[in-house]
Amino acid sequence: MDYGKFSIEEVENQLQEEQKAFKKLTKKGLQVDMTRGRPAKAQLDICMPMLEKAATYDYALKAGDARNYGQIQGVKPAIDLFAEIFDVYPEEVIVGDGSSLTIMYNVIQFAMQFGVLDNEPWNKQEKIKFICPAPGYDRHFSICEDFGIEMITVPMTQDGPDMDIIEPIVASDPAVKGIWCVPKYSNPTGVTFSDKVVERIATMKVAAPDFRVFWDNAYVVHSLYDTEDKLKNIFDVARKAGTIDRIYSFASTSKVTFAGSGIAAMAASETNIKSILKHMFYCTIGPNKINQVMHAEFLKDLSGVKEIMKQHADILRPKFELFEQKMSEAFEGDEYVKWSHPKGGYFISLDVKSCAKRIVEIAAEGGVKFTAAGATFPYKIDDKNSNIRIAPSCPSVEEMDYAIDVLISAIKQARMELVITKTKAK
Ligand code: PLP
Repeated sequence: MDYGKFSIEEVENQLQEEQKAFKKLTKKGLQVDMTRGRPAKAQLDICMPMLEKAATYDYALKAGDARNYGQIQGVKPAIDLFAEIFDVYPEEVIVGDGSSLTIMYNVIQFAMQFGVLDNEPWNKQEKIKFICPAPGYDRHFSICEDFGIEMITVPMTQDGPDMDIIEPIVASDPAVKGIWCVPKYSNPTGVTFSDKVVERIATMKVAAPDFRVFWDNAYVVHSLYDTEDKLKNIFDVARKAGTIDRIYSFASTSKVTFAGSGIAAMAASETNIKSILKHMFYCTIGPNKINQVMHAEFLKDLSGVKEIMKQHADILRPKFELFEQKMSEAFEGDEYVKWSHPKGGYFISLDVKSCAKRIVEIAAEGGVKFTAAGATFPYKIDDKNSNIRIAPSCPSVEEMDYAIDVLISAIKQARMELVITKTKAK
């Protein structure tokens, strides 16, 4: 709808009508929290049999009893499971505890304090910068803020981050030490990086010898449909190009088994893994290996994981499809309201130029909480005040139905308010 075509009186009348409808809609005082991509209870119930069978699993492993100290790299069955998920060699994997974000944070801390391989510690260098494709994952940006890493915002395209912008920056500035990537069903755009983008990231010229790609493959097995997006294996490309030391990859079972209580892992070259393990030796006596055995026994292998993920998809898909259906009914062909159509992952990315903050505000008045506008950008600065991350996973279908009605009305109201303000300012 182009409200600019109407007279200001007409828009004011329409806004009043919409506000009345909104009051009626929100009268019941329903509350829906869509701020984060948390799995719904029904999803968390899927893997309860793992806990029920826990006492029957074999913890007395050949390499060492999982109930005892040791095996800092993780237990063999869990390493093998993640080697298959990452599609790398077992020597290239460390399996840790419940959160991949913790591993990412620790790896950056090691780089800060001790340096990457034989290079100077990052915190001895004048400035450290990371490339941050945006919209992106807010917690990546928070890690940068915590370490005082300067963030360079680069736009996401339908194929992944805009490589034409990235390549000249990383080729010329040795202070640029990293890039954040969520390469499959990206948070929040749902984009899976194209083969060309994967190749360019793995092979691009970098000025810093200690440059690292933070390949956060959080949604590696999180397809909503039977046919899944194919992501080119960046390790294969980097291995051939002689750049394998550049890649750090991360994943976890947070959205497979239990959020924050699953197992998380990283993959990297053997040289990197050995160096990271050296530092880990001083900061931990070892991971929770009992949980690792439980996961490996229950999930078995990649096809076992995919079986579980089908059950997740059956719960998640109707919510994504409801969003698509209702938003299409309301805004099909509307050039001012754009949203992503993800085939996997946990998020939908909504763009309404100059209106994001106001939409989130109006929706909150109706009891529907979205992630704060701007959160998907470094320093929380969305220049266009446009992007809102929608997290459909946690609410029930009924709650989603209500939340989308509230959102649709909030979009209409915010846009009409904007047109009125702009017209009056002329
Ligand atoms: N990485 C991305 C891209 C995410 O979206 C999330 C959670 O939403 C995480 C990491 C957190 O992963 P974990 O639970 O393994 O720390």
